[in-house]
Amino acid sequence: MNQGLPPTAEPIQKLIQELNRLPGIGPKSAQRLAYHLLRAPEEQSKLLADAILSVKQKITLCSTCFNATASDPCPICRSEQRDRSKICIVEQPQDILALEHTRVYKGLYHVLHGAISPTEGVGTDNIRIRELMQRLQDSPVDEVILATNTNLEGEQTALYLNRLISPLGIRVTRLARGLPFGTELEYADDVTLTRAIEGRTEF
Ligand SMILES: [Zn+2]
Repeated sequence: MNQGLPPTAEPIQKLIQELNRLPGIGPKSAQRLAYHLLRAPEEQSKLLADAILSVKQKITLCSTCFNATASDPCPICRSEQRDRSKICIVEQPQDILALEHTRVYKGLYHVLHGAISPTEGVGTDNIRIRELMQRLQDSPVDEVILATNTNLEGEQTALYLNRLISPLGIRVTRLARGLPFGTELEYADDVTLTRAIEGRTEF
């Protein structure tokens, strides 16, 4: 315990604790945010709380590609403009945002919601691989683009998927060129990402 320090009021303590659970928010940042909200007009806290609740209440996962969406199927799966012969496999919904931003890819997506990681206990059954294989069976495609992150987990996942998908006679490619090892897709810049899609190579 912080001996000698005056105790922090319980509601503030609780807010700091909850903020600290968010990714990228350490104890110091959590403290700063909590005291910022305390000082800010009540309206701002209300807007923030509403936005958080509304995301949980209104957003669901697309039953085809598992992208986060307000309507199922999601606008990408529903669109007549998309090239249905290609599926790009990503780890997280926010990776779709990064790829869409480049405007070079016009195919469909499939979100795994994670990557295989034995150290963190994430196995092949814990991510949306079964759903992907079912999807490939129901509506065959010409090409599957593996756009998992270029870190260890992403590479392991890509290798595993290639072993599953290649025997189906589907062309399997990997986003690689220009993406340095360890890259998380959502943080890659547009130019690098565009080059990575256009320069994708056979797996
Ligand atoms: Zn979808």
